[in-house]
This record gives sequence, C-alpha cells and structure tokens, in this order.
Amino acid sequence: MLDAPHLYARPGNPYLAPGGTDWPDNAQRFAAFGQVAAEICRGAVHGFAPDIMLAHDWQAALGPAYLRFGPPCATRSVVVIHNLAFQGRFPAAIFAQLGLPPAAYAIDGVEYYGGVGYLKGGLQCADAIVTVSPTYAREICTPAGGMGLDGLLRMRRDVLVGIVNGVDTRVWDPAADSHIAATFDAGRLRRRIVNKRAVENRFGLVEGDGLLYCVVSRLTGQKGMDLVVASIDELVQSGARLALLGSGDAALETAFTSAAERHAGRVGVIVGYDEPLSHLLQAGCDAILVPSRFEPCGLTQLFGLRYGCVPVVSRVGGLADTIIDANDAAIAAGVATGIQFQPVDQPSFVAALARTASLFADRKLWRGMQRRGMATDVSWDGSAARYAALFRGLHERGAAPAAVASAAAASASTDHRRGARG
Ligand code: ADP
Repeated sequence: MLDAPHLYARPGNPYLAPGGTDWPDNAQRFAAFGQVAAEICRGAVHGFAPDIMLAHDWQAALGPAYLRFGPPCATRSVVVIHNLAFQGRFPAAIFAQLGLPPAAYAIDGVEYYGGVGYLKGGLQCADAIVTVSPTYAREICTPAGGMGLDGLLRMRRDVLVGIVNGVDTRVWDPAADSHIAATFDAGRLRRRIVNKRAVENRFGLVEGDGLLYCVVSRLTGQKGMDLVVASIDELVQSGARLALLGSGDAALETAFTSAAERHAGRVGVIVGYDEPLSHLLQAGCDAILVPSRFEPCGLTQLFGLRYGCVPVVSRVGGLADTIIDANDAAIAAGVATGIQFQPVDQPSFVAALARTASLFADRKLWRGMQRRGMATDVSWDGSAARYAALFRGLHERGAAPAAVASAAAASASTDHRRGARG
C-alpha cells in the first residue's frame, strides 16, 4: 500500500539492518507508515473506507495518534500489543518531523518521559487495546509487568482485552507435514518414534527411548534460557536428553554450545533459525521447555500441543492461559495438557523437570496428555471470533469504551469450542 523506496527498499528485514541493528531512521519510517494508514482511513484510496485500523506494536502505533490528532474520521482504531518490551521511544527532537499538531506533544498524546513514545501514543489514542492473552493483559497493568506503561494501561483498563493467538493448523499439521520424517495423528502416536530417531540423528544424540526435551527459542533472558543453561547438568543426570535450536544472546549461544560439548550425546545444540527443523523437533521430542520470565502469548507451546510434544511452561502470560497443568485435580479430571511451574526460578524449574520425568514414566498417563493436547483447539477460529466481536462493537456503537472489552470477553465466555484454552 505504501510505496516509498527511500524508506523501505532495503536489505535486511522491515525492522533491522542486515547486521541486526535498528535502522537509524526507524522513527521516520514507522511514522510515515502510521501517517499513511491514517490518510487511507480518511479516503486516500478511492472507494475504500476502512471501519477499523488495527495497529500492531509500536511500529504501527502512531496510526491511531494521526487519526486522533487529525481531521475527524469514522474509522475506529485498535492497538495490539505483542510484546510490551518493545516501545519505540525516540528523543523529543523527532516530534517536529512527525507532522502532528503541537497539542499531540502532551501527556495524553505521544509525549513519553520527555521524549516521544510511539507505542505510548497509540495506547493513549486507540479506541481499544488488545494484547495476546488475558493473563498478559492483567500482568501489564501491574508495575512488575507494565514496563513503565502500567499506569496508562490501568487508566485504559476498560478498553483493554486479552485474546490469545492461534496457529496456522494447515502449516502445523502432524498428519500432513512435509518437514517431518513420519506423519502421525493422535491415533498413531507410535509413529513419532521415527521422528525421535531423526532428531537424535540431526543433533548427534545417543539413541534411546528415554525422555527427550527440546527447546525452540530466541536465546534471551525473557525466554528464561539462562535457567535451562543452569539446569542442564541436573537434566542430564536424571537421564533425560535435550535438543536445542535457537539463536540470540552470544553468551547464551556459547553456554549452550559448551554444554553440548560437556554432555556429548545427551545434549545437542544447533545455533540458528531453521523453521523446517523446528517442525521435526516438535514431532520427535517428548516435551518442549518454555520457561519464559514473561510471555505475551507464545507459539511454541501451541505447536507442542498440536504435535504431542508436551509443553513444560512457566505460569505467566499466554503460557498460563493455554496449558492445563497436570496437578492432581487435573489428572483426576482427565484434562491436563502440560506442566506449569512458578515462580520463574531455577529451583522451581528443576522441580518441574522432575515432575515431568515422573509423569513421563507413567506411559498411559503421558499418552493421555499428548492426545488431549492434540485435541485442543489451537486454531484461529475462537480468537478470530473474539476479534470480530470487538470490531463489531467498536463499529456499531461508535465505541462506548467500557462495553468494548466486555463484548470480546462475552464472546470468549460463550465460546465452548476452545475447551482446554481455559
Ligand atoms: P517470540 O515471538 O517472543 O520469539 P513466540 O513463541 O511467540 O516467541 O514465537 C516464536 C516463533 O519463532 C515460533 O514460531 C518458533 O517456532 C519460532 N522460532 C524461534 N526460534 C526459532 C529457531 N531458532 N528456528 C526456527 N524457529 C524458531
């Protein structure tokens, strides 16, 4: 929609230069993006009048500010927060280039701690705010999870709603996945062994039927990867093995690589980003480790559910909302789909590993967890219905704000298909 080669025709990706650093003119690039989005809402494209502007993260978040501080427009705006850690903060001097009226440089506009905050401006100006899970929606309203924006989010709590992400169930379908060694479904779980052998082979692991964990992740502190490093010796001593695929912090990459050398055959590490290989890991490993310190939604645990790779997760954000912990009550009721732990520290992570090992030892119980995970609806169906309810509410009512979030919440509570989504 926006053809501006001087801003966008570049190598690298939309956000970063090839070396992985931010483009130095990202403030201008993403302001232009938001400004043009607002112009489109005002009729820049002949015959097209959008009802809703949906702005994802800080890169798009100035769109709602341009709507609010420009001529009146019927389009309603929604900001979606995928990760509050990324806020798009720039020095005050940038404001003069934005083409916003002076009134926008204020506490109820884009001003943010003496500079310009793109996400902050969007959160201030949008008609509704979505984040990618109900638990994360609560967490970001607290000082511990709000990353400086909790005060604003508490103020706007009546228009804030959490809607979990779905996954593309055609791309992630173990019964028809060309990236894995053997396809399978809940009725043919034994075929997973072929994938387990393939994982062992790719990661240089000794062959075995014992508990095989995987990690598919950015290697960062947010993802709790330091907890995995610190617990590897205990993991191996317990007889389990680990296959890790990831990239990120250099120190973590080095730590995992040296753990693989220390535990040759028990720990295998591939540093890099490899989507086909991530499918094989989900298809061949017994459990996936996701010990995030915070996790807005998380996708890897959803793939794990779908592939019978039981998620072991910290009880935060979307991980809390998508996995049912195998506590005694859940086991008795036959609803458990994974293992949760909290607080997010090493002792409780190690305890979760021990609990996982004892659950894995009960093959019938483990198989039940796998099958329930695979039966969980992780598609977009339920979440799309919640977005639709939100949009409808905004459009039809011209947004009486408090009613907006409750429309989406009501849609959530009447949606029984999501079952295990809690
Ligand atoms: P985040 O977006 O915070 O990194 P998510 O769990 O929401 O975490 O999404 C991560 C996505 O990236 C998942 O689809 C996961 O499979 C994929 N991914 C992460 N690291 C790798 C990797 N090294 N190789 C392949 N896929 C990866």
